[in-house]
Formats: sequence, C-alpha cells, structure tokens
Amino acid sequence: MERKQSTPSTDIILKNQLIIEDIRRINQEYQLKKKRNKKFNITTYGCQMNEHDSEKLKGMLCQMGYDETDKRENSDLVIFNTCCVRENAELKVYGNLGHLKSFKRKNPNAIIAVCGCMMQQEHVVKEIKKTYKHVDLVFGTHNIHNFPKLLSQAMNSDNMLVDVWDSEGEIIEGLPVIRKLDVKAFVNIMYGCNNFCTYCIVPYTRGRERSRDPEVILSEVKDLVADGVKEITLLGQNVNSYGNTFDNGYTFADLLKAVNEIEGLERIRFMTSHPKDISDDVIDAIAECEKLCEHVHLPVQSGSNNMLKAMNRKYTREHYLDLIRKIKTKVPNATISTDLIIGFPGETDQDIEDTIDLIKEVEYDASYTFIYSVRTGTPAAEYDNQIDEKVKHERFEKVLNVINDIISRKNKTLKDEVLEILVEGQSSKDKTILTGRTRGFRTVNFPGDESDIGKLVKVKITNPRSFSLMGEKVE
Ligand code: SF4
Repeated sequence: MERKQSTPSTDIILKNQLIIEDIRRINQEYQLKKKRNKKFNITTYGCQMNEHDSEKLKGMLCQMGYDETDKRENSDLVIFNTCCVRENAELKVYGNLGHLKSFKRKNPNAIIAVCGCMMQQEHVVKEIKKTYKHVDLVFGTHNIHNFPKLLSQAMNSDNMLVDVWDSEGEIIEGLPVIRKLDVKAFVNIMYGCNNFCTYCIVPYTRGRERSRDPEVILSEVKDLVADGVKEITLLGQNVNSYGNTFDNGYTFADLLKAVNEIEGLERIRFMTSHPKDISDDVIDAIAECEKLCEHVHLPVQSGSNNMLKAMNRKYTREHYLDLIRKIKTKVPNATISTDLIIGFPGETDQDIEDTIDLIKEVEYDASYTFIYSVRTGTPAAEYDNQIDEKVKHERFEKVLNVINDIISRKNKTLKDEVLEILVEGQSSKDKTILTGRTRGFRTVNFPGDESDIGKLVKVKITNPRSFSLMGEKVE
C-alpha cells in the first residue's frame, strides 16, 4: 500500500491529536468524579485575527472535553487572548490579571493562560513574570498550534510556563475551529505584514507576510456557505499583497474572482487594503464581480505628505487621490471608508489642514479616526517630537466634525432610496427592530421579525440619521 508522506502541518496536527486525547481522558475522569465537564472562559481583545485565533483555541478545547462558559469565576481554565495595538486593551489585560489573584488563591488548580500579540513583546512578558506570578501559561501568536502541548505541560507544573516564539513558522492548517455561526464570517487569507509603518506593532508581533493556499481558503468559504453564511470578509493586514509569497503569479484579484464563483454565497468584502498595493486588477474585480460589495476600506492615515513619510506609508496624497478617482470612475456607486491617525509625532496645523482638505475631496462614507498613542517597540515611540495631548484632542475634534458633517449630508441624500440589506439580527435595544447592512456597509434599521434574519431584503430609507439609516421593508 502506498503511504502518503506527511507534511509538517499534518505531523503537528497528528501530535496535537494525541495530546488532545490525553487531556480528554483526564477531563473524563474529572467529569465522572464531579458530575460536570471542566469549563473554559476566553476573553479576546483586538482584531478579527485574534477572534479567529480564539476560535482555534475553542475548537481544540472542545475536543479536549471542555465546555465554554461566559463566567470567568466558574472556570477551570481562563484565557486572555491579548492585543497590543491599542493601549486601552493592554491596560484592561493587566487589570483583569490583577483581579484574578484572589481567584487563583481560591482555585489553585485552575489554569490562567495569556496569549496573543502582547506576549510577543519582551517587556510585557517580563512584567507578567514579575507582577502576575499567579499566571500559569504565557504563549505567543506564532505557536498557537502547540496549545494542547503547552496546556498539558502547564497542568503538570507548579511554575509559570512561558513559550513565545520570535518568528513565524509555516502556516498550520487543519486545526479544529469552533465558530460562532452567523450570517457573516471572516476568513483569514494571509498572516503578518512586511510594511513597518512606524506607528504599528503588527510586523513585530505577527511576523512577515504569509499567504494561505487559495484551495484551503476556497474550501473554508464553501464549508461556511454550506453552514448558512451569506457574507464573507477576506481578511489580512494587507490583502493586496496576497500571493506575493507564491511563485505561480496567483494574485488577490484571482482569489476574489474564484470566491465570486462560489454558489450560495451572496456577498464578499475584504479588509484591509494598503494604498501602495491596491492594483487595477482588484478595482476591476470590484466592478465586475457581482458578489463583491462596492465598498473599499482604504486607510489613508493622513492627508499630509510629510506625515505619510514620517509614518513610512510609502505613498503620497497625490497617489491616494488618483486611486480614489480610479475607484469612483470604475465603480461609480462605491462607498469609501478610511482610518485616520491624528496627533502623530511632528504633526503641524498645516498637516491637519492637508488632512481636512483630503477628507473633503474624497467625501468619505465612514472613517475610523484615532488619536495617536505611543506603542512601545515601534519607531514612532522613540520620536522626540510627540504632540501635546490637549493639542491632539483639539485637532481630533476638528477633523471629526468635518467627517461627521460629510457623512450626515451623504446619508440624507439616501432618503426614499430602496437598498438591499443583508439582515444580521435584531437590535440589542429593541427586538422588534432588525438591523443589517447595505452593500456599501451602511447600517440600516427597520421594523421586522426574526424570520428575516439571514435574508437579503429591500428596504426603503425613511429616516436617514447621522450614523445609521431607518427604513421600511418593501419586499
Ligand atoms: S500595513 Fe502598516 S499599519 Fe497595517 S499592519 Fe502593516 S505595518 Fe501595521
């Protein structure tokens, strides 16, 4: 009989499976004694990449015989999957770890684990070792596939186990995943980033760019569609350089076209695009592929060439505006959203005027506007021309007012228009109101019942508000 040679990925999965079985046996004994399964609780901070990593952890834990609980205090295993992009999330992690000191005293057999981007930073690991000695396991973003082995070691040790890899290995496919099934789902198409924007920690914590095999992505999307998912967002730090690590010339535009062929899928989105890399082929794909939504999230960060240079963004405002003109010509009904950083080191009043000028020219439909905050470990953290907090906030208010005026004015023009909405669920405040999004990514609320959740419906806009639209279902 011919034996199939196992790839490193399948080797890892097989070894994992053996450890998962061992832990499952231990948990079964526990179940027989205590008449309940062991429970785990995961708190996830940050982006969709982290959400997906948590789905993998959940998949492995369920195979080990754990049940998920939303009550941290009832858990046998508490995991924090951390993010270091925003300072706020970092502080919350430290706060939560502090609170768990008394929990660990009362439950000495419980395991406390911390993983994710924060752990890829040396100073964070040092701080955890020094101040949070009750933590049992620390691991990073590059060795999440080793979680069963790490957990098994942590269960059998009285000391904190720290295993953080400096660099990424190959992409490990085939880990069990537990997804919260929804109308829409996110699918990672690549990991890491090669761009080194001077404010960003991602290249240091998520490693260099690696693209997933298109066949694996397409099969994941097909499985999700078979499970009822209607909208897929293809996810990467810089989706436009998807395929750069392949030697067969397969590009992001090729992937978009292939996903567009999947039967039963209604909508495709993608995030995030880098203005230096988005190609004409991708813009053409948006114009041609009927499932690709006419919404482009194209983070500009600043409208000033001086700031773009200081941020190492590798494009100019002129290049960015050319792209916007190209998108608007080829896809006339496209909506455009962006990310902006206000108060970057060295920013002047003129730089802010340039940003406002660009915002007015593009007429964004949405913007995620952030006040710059220092991220330890990034080049910009070392710049000695940091901006005073008060000035940052004044500039932020000024920019926000301009954006909000534009969004509000554009929303008003939609009154009486009939738009296609993918119904995502009921409003959290009022169960008689359904909520969903247009192809252009605008939120629309309208009266309706839960039988419409997951469906595409036509809604007439009756009351356009500043940040959402109210409407009535017409069919
Ligand atoms: S493109 Fe820049 S901002 Fe985006 S992940 Fe890469 S380094 Fe960070």
